[in-house]
Amino acid sequence: MTEDSARSVRLREALNLIPSYVPGKPAPQREGFTTYKISSNENPYPPLPSVLSVIAEAASQVNRYPDMSVTALRTAIAEHFGVRLEEVATGTGSVGILGQIMQIACDPGDEVVFAWRSFEAYPIIVGLSGATAVQVPLTADASHDLLAMAAAITERTKVVLVCTPNNPTGPIVTAPDLDSFLAAVPSDVLVVIDEAYVEFGRDPRAADALAVWRSHPNVVVLRTFSKAYGLAGLRVGYAIAHEPIADALRKAAVPFGVSDLAQQAAIASLSAYDELAVRVEDLVIERSRVIKALREQGWDVPDSQANFIWLPLGDDALAFAEVAAEQGLVVRPFAGDGVRCTIAEVEANDRLIEVAAAYRGR
Ligand SMILES: *Cc1c(COP(=O)(O)O)cnc(C)c1O
Repeated sequence: MTEDSARSVRLREALNLIPSYVPGKPAPQREGFTTYKISSNENPYPPLPSVLSVIAEAASQVNRYPDMSVTALRTAIAEHFGVRLEEVATGTGSVGILGQIMQIACDPGDEVVFAWRSFEAYPIIVGLSGATAVQVPLTADASHDLLAMAAAITERTKVVLVCTPNNPTGPIVTAPDLDSFLAAVPSDVLVVIDEAYVEFGRDPRAADALAVWRSHPNVVVLRTFSKAYGLAGLRVGYAIAHEPIADALRKAAVPFGVSDLAQQAAIASLSAYDELAVRVEDLVIERSRVIKALREQGWDVPDSQANFIWLPLGDDALAFAEVAAEQGLVVRPFAGDGVRCTIAEVEANDRLIEVAAAYRGR
């Protein structure tokens, strides 16, 4: 009854076009059998003891609001990357900042260009803003087609999202490709370079967004503490942007959105990055091992510079995910397209290699 009446409440029409975010499912539990959730690109390592103790300390203050201007964390980020405090904005994860970007740049009817398939949050966040998503298909090797993206820009385009390495397929955008792309984009269009996985990159040809940002007033670099830094559960990400843009991003932030736990943990993680980098390096080595094994099995795995790999299964994506779940592996299928698998503990990676081999051998 109440449900039915609630349906007559007028909500925005834009909602009808927006897909719901599909979170990674919890692993099915079975007696005497370890299961692994490799569906959300999380870091498999628990927080460092030094970070945990900072979080515990901060927990005793949760009756207080956090520092609204996030000064200590922004200062730490600014020092870490050699930028000014005014050029740093934070948000509740970099997904939170993406929402702020839409709020500062887009009115209903404006266009946002991004590659597809790319990060599943993009169409949701763009749709919620009332802007129109313009999706440009990836190339055959699962990379951004930057020429086509530049060609898709119109008078109405306000924002272009560039995801490198690309989630969920893995390839990077190269430095020369990004340079020519930026030369082709009108200077009043905001270009967001989403580097959620940059710490996992080892390809010397990769674009260096921080270097590029300096010489392009319309470029914003997005980073997060969720992946390499292992703080996904605390929701903290940041943008490095020129001052007028960073100012606007701070205006659009949810007041007190980044908790004190998150701010303190992020500061501690930045200063412990050498320790975290060892873990990141282990995951990078595991990534090479997994890709090599899968290619030897005959899988056409795109080059990944992130903490996940892509199996281009097409219509078999859901079937593969079911088989993997039976073997205690929760992967992330995209129906009709492929399956993304996070590089995780060695045992989880071994299991993935086995499941993939068995699947091919069917
Ligand atoms: C995970 C991810 C993010 C960041 O997520 P937050 O946890 O909100 O910081 C941003 N972009 C891409 C492409 C991602 O995969």
